[in-house]
Amino acid sequence: TSSGSGSGAKVLKVGSSIDFAPFEFQDESQKDYQGFDMDLIRAIAKEMGYEVDIQNLGFDGLIPALQGKNIDVIISGMTINDERKQNVLFSDPYYQSGLTMVVRSDEKAITKFSDLKGKKVAVQIGTTSEAEVKKIEGVEVKVLNTPADCFMELKAGGVDAVVNDRPVNDYFITKNGAQGVKALEEKLTAEDYGIAIGKDNKELQEKVNAALKKLKENGEYDKIFAKWFGE
Ligand code: GLN
Repeated sequence: TSSGSGSGAKVLKVGSSIDFAPFEFQDESQKDYQGFDMDLIRAIAKEMGYEVDIQNLGFDGLIPALQGKNIDVIISGMTINDERKQNVLFSDPYYQSGLTMVVRSDEKAITKFSDLKGKKVAVQIGTTSEAEVKKIEGVEVKVLNTPADCFMELKAGGVDAVVNDRPVNDYFITKNGAQGVKALEEKLTAEDYGIAIGKDNKELQEKVNAALKKLKENGEYDKIFAKWFGE
C-alpha cells in the first residue's frame, strides 16, 4: 500500500466501476461517489486508519488494475468466485446477491430463464451475468459496457432481456422509477460480494477482514445497510 502525502496518513487505493447503483454511483447533486460499497469501504478504511482514494474504472479493468498494483483493493459489487480467486484474494463476504432478469413490461414470451432460448440478452462486460448467460444454450448475448447501456438497449428494443444483479435491477426499477420495464422473480444464481485484494497481499486481506468484522459487531455495517436497503 502507498503512503499518503502531507498529513502522512496511509492511503488505500480503491478501484470501482461507478455504474452500479445502489452500490456505487454518482448523481448530479453530489460529486462524491455514493452507494453502499462506497460507504462500506470508507468505513473499513477509517477503521484501518487509512484514507481512501477511489478510482473509477471499467468493470473489466478492475482485476487487471489490481494485478498491476495501480489499486490496492476492488469494491464493486464483485462476486466471489473460483475463477477470480485464481487472480485475487477476497475478503469475507459482505453482501448476498444473485442474478435476475429485466424485460419490457409488455413482454409475454419471457417469464423465466428457460424462455431465453432464441432471444437476445444484454449483459455487462466481465460480469458473472456475461459468464452465466453464455452458458444458456441458444441465447444471443450482447455484451455492453455498463448496466445503464443494457437497460437502454432493452428499452430501445435491441434486446429482449437484461440479466444483471438483483439489487441493481430492483433499484433501477423502484428507486429510479424506470418506466416500461419489469424485473422477474426467478433467480439464476445466488452470489456473495467480496472486496478483492492483491493475490500477494494477505496482510491487507487480514486487515480488511478485521475491520469488516468490527463494523458488523459495532452496528456500523447495519447502519450502512439500512441506509441503502432499508424501507
Ligand atoms: N456481481 C457481478 C460480478 O461480479 C456484477 C458486478 C458489477 O457489474 N459491478 O460479475
